[in-house]
Amino acid sequence: MRVAVVGAGVVGLSATAALMQRGAEVVCYERADEPMTGRSVGSSRIFRLAHREPELVRLAVDARAGFDRWAEQAGRPMLVPSGCVISGADVAEWAAGMEAAGVPLEMPATPDRLRLPTRRPPSEALLDPSGGVVDVDAVREYLTGLTKRALRHEPVDAVDDDGHVWTRSGPARFDAVVLAAGAGTPQLAAQAGIAVPGELQHHARFTFPVDPTVAWQSWIDLPANGLGTYQHASGPGRWAVGGHLDAAVTAWEVGRDAATTASREAVLEYAREHLAVEPRIVETVYCTPMPGLGDGFHVQRAGRVVAVHGENLFKFAPVLGAALAAACELV
Ligand SMILES: Cc1cc2nc3c(=O)[nH]c(=O)nc-3n(C[C@H](O)[C@H](O)[C@H](O)COP(=O)(O)OP(=O)(O)OC[C@H]3O[C@@H](n4cnc5c(N)ncnc54)[C@H](O)[C@@H]3O)c2cc1C
Repeated sequence: MRVAVVGAGVVGLSATAALMQRGAEVVCYERADEPMTGRSVGSSRIFRLAHREPELVRLAVDARAGFDRWAEQAGRPMLVPSGCVISGADVAEWAAGMEAAGVPLEMPATPDRLRLPTRRPPSEALLDPSGGVVDVDAVREYLTGLTKRALRHEPVDAVDDDGHVWTRSGPARFDAVVLAAGAGTPQLAAQAGIAVPGELQHHARFTFPVDPTVAWQSWIDLPANGLGTYQHASGPGRWAVGGHLDAAVTAWEVGRDAATTASREAVLEYAREHLAVEPRIVETVYCTPMPGLGDGFHVQRAGRVVAVHGENLFKFAPVLGAALAAACELV
């Protein structure tokens, strides 16, 4: 089977690796100079079993087994199992999702069980002891090593549902085409008759110096009032914080610079007031997510084309790659 994968982010690379493992001949097209520089950029992500929906909890269990397999093959860990804390108004819903899926949790997790660099630990929290951080550098090194011979640095200009892919080298025909192009997926998917939400927003995550001697837990805080955040260790002595800002601040029309500046001010103010970190930004990671999607993903097919979209996909990368490879065999 000849398969084209468009996009060498974590999802496209995972799909490429899974397809190669199944014996497919794969070309993975990437328009950027380096793989994993779009939404997969940076060195860390939160991993968690905790989700509101039991189906997503189960998928995260499978994803963790996938990361463990990758770690075994790579000879280095891919996940830091420091734990993940969920706090905020809906915490009981998250606990219900985990209970229904039968995974371990601590609820309520009392402040003495929490290792968060905050001045005021949340009063009601859920601890996902299986959660923690994905080592993105380890994943990148592993996947790019596996998929090196499939990678072609060429932008895809167009596709059709009969398996044609057009690049500057001309057209090529494949038995299946996987669209894992992140922000580039909606435009290409539309050409194959697949509707993917096309709206984008600006998002920036900021990293602060923190006490390097503590194995901090990852943290998703969604309070009824005030700034919702996601936070996690991003290497020793580094604490990354992303804020869920007002949609008007991060809307596409606002522009990257203005949105990043407003996000920086909001997160810096939050850090000064609430966190036990040095209020000095040492790294900014920027990307263009689709607004309002939350957790989960969609895989859609038209003819020979399979398209995937969603948010927070990093934690599902091993299962998504396998699912996309299996979907190609159905075209
Ligand atoms: C700051 C930040 C924090 C995040 N936190 C988390 C988290 O804690 N946990 C979690 O699970 N997820 C998190 N996410 C989300 C997660 O990282 C993304 O969902 C995931 O990396 C998306 O991977 P992808 O392969 O779909 O997209 P991308 O990494 O964007 O890959 C798509 C690739 O396609 C290429 N491309 C686009 N168009 C074309 C074309 N026409 N031709 C050729 N190539 C093309 C792009 O250059 C890009 O390299 C976070 C994201 C960011 C940015």
